[in-house]
Amino acid sequence: MKTILFLAGDGIGPEITRETRKVAQALKDGLSLDLAFDEALIGGAAHDATGNAFPDETRARADAASAVFLGAVGGPKWDHLTGAASLERVALLGLRKQLGAFANLRPVKVFPQLIEASTLKREIVEGVDMIIVRELIGGIYFGEPRGLRTTGDGHQEGYNTLVYSVPEIERVVRAACTIARTRDKRVTSVDKANVLEALRLWREVATRVVRDEFPDITLDHLIVDNAAMQLIRSPKQFDVMVTTNMFGDILSDAASMLTGSLGMLPSAALNETGKGMYEPIHGSAPDIAGRNLANPLASILSLAMMMEHSLGEPQAARRIEAAVHGVLDAGLRTADIMSPGMKQVTTAEMGDAVVAALAVRVSQAAS
Ligand code: NAD
Repeated sequence: MKTILFLAGDGIGPEITRETRKVAQALKDGLSLDLAFDEALIGGAAHDATGNAFPDETRARADAASAVFLGAVGGPKWDHLTGAASLERVALLGLRKQLGAFANLRPVKVFPQLIEASTLKREIVEGVDMIIVRELIGGIYFGEPRGLRTTGDGHQEGYNTLVYSVPEIERVVRAACTIARTRDKRVTSVDKANVLEALRLWREVATRVVRDEFPDITLDHLIVDNAAMQLIRSPKQFDVMVTTNMFGDILSDAASMLTGSLGMLPSAALNETGKGMYEPIHGSAPDIAGRNLANPLASILSLAMMMEHSLGEPQAARRIEAAVHGVLDAGLRTADIMSPGMKQVTTAEMGDAVVAALAVRVSQAAS
């Protein structure tokens, strides 16, 4: 029996998590999956209830689960919590660290039905289907020493440390290559080896890992500034991109905009055993929270990633993806992706439509 822990969080988190859980329940019933569901508090909701945005009980449940689903955390109500007490540091970074989730997978796939939502020309984005693998628990965001200090001549200065060890680089490159093997077998490693020693090491290690362990993978290297340009100039050239924590943070947000629809993009963060946390890339959208307006498809597609990467159910993943295509083909749109001639639906109606599209496929497969 495998257990999914649902952490709904704040803002639109509970609304999109509810729809995602509906889809999980329908798949469990329709495909007789050996799954159990659990839930716990995180983020502002946990802070208000327990005084801690990542309570020990949630920590223990995350440890016990096979995979963790996260809605979203944060909102103006908790903006006074800053620095080490911020919800992001306590809940998000805390959960990633707890799981040892070092590989952040962000697929960037342009849905043909939503091409007009992109700010880029159709011929540039049509057919884009890439995945960015971002190192998630190392690099400059975690490196020590860090802080603020006063120099000898009395000026204050801030400092951070970019540090990567060989094992940290090896494992994220292996994760990228393993994913590339299920795709077009091409990996682009993004660094700044011309300026930074730590990333010269990154390039050397990436080259060795691919040469020795993944001879079937084609590896190339790009300097980060060129990678940023190529992402906008001709994004279709990429299959799997692997990069550091900070470069991945920036490049994956830029790449997400190729699709023009924040509400459509899932993500995963995996550890060495394949266990992971899955979440839409968007935040808690306080401006639309509680109004049944949020697009639940990024969350539902995150469930598909979970089925594939942590639960060993690739068929279930394919069914979810096909159902999402089905509802888009049928012209259903939440407000964020609405366009003339389409039918606007609520969060719950979109979730129900995906479930209905799954049920058709489940019963067809059974007959
Ligand atoms: P956001 O992603 O929450 O919202 C940006 C815009 O996109 C808003 O107009 C919002 O209404 C819209 N939007 C986002 N998701 C949508 C969806 N599923 N359907 C329809 N519209 C959607 O980003 P923000 O406004 O910068 O942040 C809001 C809060 O979320 C902040 O407190 C921030 O710290 C937090 N946040 C959390 C996470 C996370 O939990 N992983 C990530 C990013 C931001």
